[in-house]
Amino acid sequence: MIKELTLNEFQKRALATTNGDSTLAEALLNGSLGLAGEAGEFADAVKKLTFHGKTLNTDSYEHLIEELGDVMFYVAWLADTLGVDLETVARKNNLKLSLRYPTGFVPVSKMTKLVGSIDALNAALVALKAEEEGSDND
Ligand SMILES: [Mg+2]
Repeated sequence: MIKELTLNEFQKRALATTNGDSTLAEALLNGSLGLAGEAGEFADAVKKLTFHGKTLNTDSYEHLIEELGDVMFYVAWLADTLGVDLETVARKNNLKLSLRYPTGFVPVSKMTKLVGSIDALNAALVALKAEEEGSDND
């Protein structure tokens, strides 16, 4: 097993197993359907653990990890199809979340307590969205 694997190295290895002859539209469709299918396999495994009496043991745990890896494969392929590497996708997501939750995640119930009311919270969210849209146009 590989000792350390960066996201970009993972993407490079994943791409070595894809059909490089696809058109952009074919790759987007194939990747999207594959991503949805693998996410579905993960969700199905969770469903069986939750509602079908299956227990979380070494095998079911490893199965969940395997399905997450399958999801990552399609994410890597789709990112490449869009002309971006996985490190960039990850960094952009981290940045987005750090801007959205600068002090960490705050549940709506706590936001309401901080802001005072749901109306004040909605007004604050509208103002924040307008501010974000304004900064997008800079
Ligand atoms: Mg799978």
